Amino acid sequence: AKLDGRGTFRFFEPAMDARMQARRRLELDMRQALARREFQLHYQPQLNLADEQLVGCEALIRWRHPERGLVSPLDFIPLAEEIGLIVPIGEWVLRQACRDAASWPQPLSVAVNVSPAQFKSDRLVETIVSALANAGLPAARLEIEITEGVLLQNNDKTLHTLHRLRDLGVRVSMDDFGTGYSSLSYLRAFPFDKIKIDRSFVSDMDAKDGPGGKDGLSPKADGEAIIRAIAGLGRSLGMTTVAEGVETPEQLRRIRAEGCTDVQGYLISKPLPADDLLRLLSAPDRP
Ligand code: C2E
Ligand code: CA
Ligand code: CA
Ligand code: CA
Repeated sequence: AKLDGRGTFRFFEPAMDARMQARRRLELDMRQALARREFQLHYQPQLNLADEQLVGCEALIRWRHPERGLVSPLDFIPLAEEIGLIVPIGEWVLRQACRDAASWPQPLSVAVNVSPAQFKSDRLVETIVSALANAGLPAARLEIEITEGVLLQNNDKTLHTLHRLRDLGVRVSMDDFGTGYSSLSYLRAFPFDKIKIDRSFVSDMDAKDGPGGKDGLSPKADGEAIIRAIAGLGRSLGMTTVAEGVETPEQLRRIRAEGCTDVQGYLISKPLPADDLLRLLSAPDRP
């Protein structure tokens, strides 16, 4: 590269170009993935702590790319969201999740992540109504998970959609609670059924005690105090509180002590393909 300003710019150009090309490639592949049936849903169980029964499963999308192998949703959902492809992908997720859940034992529900662009698209309610009808799944067994991003945009329309879904009997969860800037104001804006406490608070509990945490505070105390506060908030508001990302028996013990109602995480089960989940559900010694 040349040493002048322009040379520096040109030095970065090839890298930028490679990124744009990778992005375009991903976009093209994603556009074909639905037709080629490369998407798959895995299901991660949620456990109620009071009676130690499974209450439902969260549907998590997986992409079996012919060359790249298994692609994480973190690597394609953001782009799908940006270019609007999340609408048809999300529709597939809803239909498939409802179909799968219809074969689970009666009370088990399925939770589906619904992203902001799906709320903008106008057909979300119809899609959900038709997915439920086609699968023969009662609305009460479907739950949608939304993050703050959904409520940040177009507030009145979004709230209207949420209320319509609620009127149908679909339950609504606030996902990744505590990670955004105004989680509390969203709880006031809409009566969620469930609060999902972000995994970062659970993993914070494990951080070693003592100095070295942010601002000299102990990260361990932070995470646990926050979980306790959210569990209390949920109790007062009549909302279920699920701790996400529970990996160790010690985390489970403390989460139970802090009063969360439900848990989800590798300790209970990793997300499983539909077949494996069915086997787990019919096993006599299921968790
Ligand atoms: P999320 O909704 O917060 O989902 C929870 C993520 O935590 C999942 O990652 C899950 O596999 C992971 N996880 C669960 N238990 C544990 C644990 O004990 N330890 C650790 N380290 N991780 C755990 P995954 O499946 O990679 O999904 C990542 C994100 O992609 C999701 O975060 C969600 O935001 C998005 N996503 C996944 N499927 C869909 C979908 O169908 N539609 C939309 N719009 N987004 C989706
Ligand atoms: Ca989620
Ligand atoms: Ca989450
Ligand atoms: Ca997340």
